[in-house]
Amino acid sequence: MVAPLPYPALHASHSGIWICSVDGETRAIGKGEAIGRVAETPHILLNAPLLGQRLGYPDLSGLDLLELFAFIHPAQFVVPTPAGLAKTLGLTPPDQEADIAALCRQAASLLLEGLEAPFWKEREGAWSSAQALYRLRWPWAQEVGRKLEKPVEAERWLFSKLTEWEEEAPRPAPRSVTMNQSEALATLDALTGEGSEEREGQKSYTAAVSQIFNPRKIKGEPNMLLAEAGTGIGKTLGYLAPASLWSRQAGGTVWISTFTKALQRQLDRETRRIYPDEETFRKKVVVRKGRENYLCLLNLEDALQGGFTGRAAILAHLVARWAAYSKDGDMVGGDLPGWLTTLFRRNGATALTDRRGECVYAGCPHYRKCFIEKAAHASQQADIVIANHALVMVNAARGREQQNRPTRLIFDEGHHLFDAADSMFAARLSGQEAIEIRRWVIGPETKNRGRRRGLAARLADLASYDEEGGRAIESARLAAEAMPADGWLQRIGEGEPFGPIEALLQEVRAMVFARDESQSADAGYGLETELTDVEGPMIDAVATAAQAMDALLKPLVRLGQRIEHLIEEGPDWMDAPARARMEGALSSLGWRRDTLSGWLSLLTRIGGPADPDFVDWLMIDRFEGREYDIGICRHWLDPTIPVTEVVTKPAHGVMITSATLKGGGGWDTARARSGAVHLPHPPQEFEVASPFDYPNQAKVIIVTDVKRGDMAGLAGAYAQLIEASAGGTLGLFTAIRRLRTVYARIADRMAQSGLPIYAQHVDPIDTGTLVDIFRDDPKASLLGTDALRDGVDVPGQSLRLVVMESVPWPRPNILHRARRLAGGGSAYDDRIIRARLAQAFGRIIRRADDHGHFVILSSSFPSRLFSAFPEGTPIERMPLAQALAEINKATSEMQDSGLSTETSLMHDNPQ
Ligand code: SF4
Repeated sequence: MVAPLPYPALHASHSGIWICSVDGETRAIGKGEAIGRVAETPHILLNAPLLGQRLGYPDLSGLDLLELFAFIHPAQFVVPTPAGLAKTLGLTPPDQEADIAALCRQAASLLLEGLEAPFWKEREGAWSSAQALYRLRWPWAQEVGRKLEKPVEAERWLFSKLTEWEEEAPRPAPRSVTMNQSEALATLDALTGEGSEEREGQKSYTAAVSQIFNPRKIKGEPNMLLAEAGTGIGKTLGYLAPASLWSRQAGGTVWISTFTKALQRQLDRETRRIYPDEETFRKKVVVRKGRENYLCLLNLEDALQGGFTGRAAILAHLVARWAAYSKDGDMVGGDLPGWLTTLFRRNGATALTDRRGECVYAGCPHYRKCFIEKAAHASQQADIVIANHALVMVNAARGREQQNRPTRLIFDEGHHLFDAADSMFAARLSGQEAIEIRRWVIGPETKNRGRRRGLAARLADLASYDEEGGRAIESARLAAEAMPADGWLQRIGEGEPFGPIEALLQEVRAMVFARDESQSADAGYGLETELTDVEGPMIDAVATAAQAMDALLKPLVRLGQRIEHLIEEGPDWMDAPARARMEGALSSLGWRRDTLSGWLSLLTRIGGPADPDFVDWLMIDRFEGREYDIGICRHWLDPTIPVTEVVTKPAHGVMITSATLKGGGGWDTARARSGAVHLPHPPQEFEVASPFDYPNQAKVIIVTDVKRGDMAGLAGAYAQLIEASAGGTLGLFTAIRRLRTVYARIADRMAQSGLPIYAQHVDPIDTGTLVDIFRDDPKASLLGTDALRDGVDVPGQSLRLVVMESVPWPRPNILHRARRLAGGGSAYDDRIIRARLAQAFGRIIRRADDHGHFVILSSSFPSRLFSAFPEGTPIERMPLAQALAEINKATSEMQDSGLSTETSLMHDNPQ
């Protein structure tokens, strides 16, 4: 029997507010009383920011169960809802909202009891952590402290507990191996297991993929395959079979690049089938992400030792608890619960990663335990590296790991390659970017928290040994003072810019406002104008800014040369760690040099003839009327040109694959969007259709009587559709404003119908957690924008209806206009929309037993776009009432047939 705690609990939703007293009695109360009570007495809560939003009291705080869970079970998954917590703790999920407050009290007692359990596996470090949290006045510290006994022996501190990576000899180059298709198919058989269903599509896919691993015939011309494989053919195992076989036979590494975290997680699971033994798996399969995803131990140490105060310091201690048990230290999409940082309103979380590239590499006391370095070293010996498109491109373009460049690459979710390349190879000279360079060179200029150091402090030993290097550092520091400093946006707004770059940005801002044609159409949101017909003050400002930029670039180039010289010379004092640190400094210096050179070339072009390969424009980033950044942008008209040069051509074998690679168009589209058109010879092409029975599993409905611009009508339609489907609805919007309006109008109604509704851009919950919540509750619905269009993988009945509020036209911005002109006008737009529709439709049917409707609330939906949907899918235009009747009928049939509404979080591969 678990002893009750002496604290009341509070629960609030759109349908009411309840308090469960210390006597265990629950009653409904009003907002005013609830706010008064929580301000007076600490209450047990579940997700304080979310409850605060429901109460209209954003400062709500108390004894948050999620914080307690994070302390007791670091690195463990839980869906952060009452039902999710109840399931994890073995309690009965509540039937009614009124029972949730009592459940919270029960859950708190149970969690605290767990601290005394002899089998509690996360005990180590808890006592020391609780002591520190007590000093920080963490609300749970007292209760936790009562249950924890002081350990007999001093606990190992996080930094001594983490294992070190070992230096290993570089892996020899892979052997030349000609793939045997029968062996690849036998490997596939072994992976899919005996008795698995007939899968001809998957077999032919595997046979096609195995060809990319054959020896390359000509340097600069990889074996390249474009493969469109419909949902459900078992794509991941289809390519993992030949990839693992080649890796075993040739002794090389295959890189698999993804776009969404959902697929990364899935690959992590699928690859366990190849290496069932845990230890072998850890050696053979490595997940890599950009360094800004990982916890930086040096930043954490700084935060724990006083760098952070208040709530941010409490977060740092909970993150330290997690780091001691984490699989890989990935703070974004790894085993750190996505909800943890949002509980702290993102206070301090980003400062715990290495976002500013201030890593001191071997100069760091935690270098040998560093999560980033660990993943980088492990990937050199791995058979399979699971990465993402951005990381593959960054490493190829400016990585430190040139000897470890991927030579066999599989780009899954290849339809995102174009957009990933577009961001990666773009240049953006803006205030926010320029201030980062200033900080990187000069270091902290105010009493900022954190351990940031300037260039001089980071390279003090070089400066004392090499006079010329020291002079270069000093010149760079002086030149960096011309970059924007804190308060730049305000100064520009007041017409008092400081220094040449701020002066240039002031001209940019004036020109954007002067030429803005959007008028009130997009009030308060981003503005842009083409970089043409520039004259007068702007030209002068550009010239002065370019001089300042050049003055900074020159000493950085000189410094780079001095470091290279020093590394070659190898003076006595330069031991292995110092050498590694110099190499690290060289790499981060190279990155800044490249950025500054890109900006300089952007500036020198202004006023001259346009370069047909690029699109340039001026912009002001705004959100709801507030300005965030001002700058000049340059994108490649076709960003697959640089990708082909730096990633594809140097490789030996490349496959680009996706369920929607042709984007509703033909192979021309796939070749253009993948960059294959820039190779000397055409790629191999392969196509296999989905095995799903779309004519019987899905239906597209175009609702004809919801008027464009009628927000009340739109919200009403959403509410009725969600009710007809009894939840299980994914609502996709093309504008955040409309999403928020619809949510605000229907949230209460949905709560009263017992159909929880969650929304991106409204609920203070990260997108990954929102999807977990949606997946876990078949009655829940989720509203969102672009990221949900193909980042949601919810097989089973939790997702049975997708509603799109309108045709997802591309935003008619300057970049789009230029590409549209080059890409065939309206046909180009149609290709983009078809691809988006195909991706959104693809959310519904993830398994052979899935059924669902795809509803578009736009009567003007053109019939020429019907080809976006799989062949044979029924498509019908009808009024809302008829659509509701049809969906209602499907819901009743589903309920009558007793189809399980359970959806496993560890579902089968839907690919
Ligand atoms: S090596 Fe760099 S990223 Fe890693 S812990 Fe140290 S400073 Fe942070």
